[in-house]
Amino acid sequence: MTDIFSPEQRSHIMQQIKGKNTKPEMIVRKYLFSKGFRYRVNVKHLPGKPDIALRKYRTAIFIHGCFWHGHEDCKLASHPQSNKEYWEAKIARNKVRDIETREKLKAMGWNTMVIWECQLRKADIRQQTLEGIVQILDETFIKLNQPHKTAALYNQEESISQAAESFSYNPENK
Ligand SMILES: [Zn+2]
Repeated sequence: MTDIFSPEQRSHIMQQIKGKNTKPEMIVRKYLFSKGFRYRVNVKHLPGKPDIALRKYRTAIFIHGCFWHGHEDCKLASHPQSNKEYWEAKIARNKVRDIETREKLKAMGWNTMVIWECQLRKADIRQQTLEGIVQILDETFIKLNQPHKTAALYNQEESISQAAESFSYNPENK
């Protein structure tokens, strides 16, 4: 059968399709799955509809686009020059909502991790990010299953929020 598209068009289409499969959420999902983690995606019954939720680990993972969620000091988050005020207001609202979401989850005993789009871009940084997620999940699991759960959970909250914060730094600056 003759291709109705020119080679250039075809290659563009294939790139679009490929791009869809490698969007940030998919990178994280595939990696976690390959490491044996089982999770639910876009979980509607949890605040903020987390991209990935691991009940066994009481952890919700959000994969944030740097622009829409206003990643601080990140090149990918720069505003378009036109309608600057509009974008700034919109993104400020998103940021407030993200904070509220994380607080709601925390109140329900869930840990949250925020992974930024830019942390999944370059291969070496991406690998570091993915390994970091697994490390935090493993530590969380151990702590959740320790005796004296209450105390462990409390400490874990602290270490998770610190670890999650370390994910928030812009790897470009490293
Ligand atoms: Zn970023």
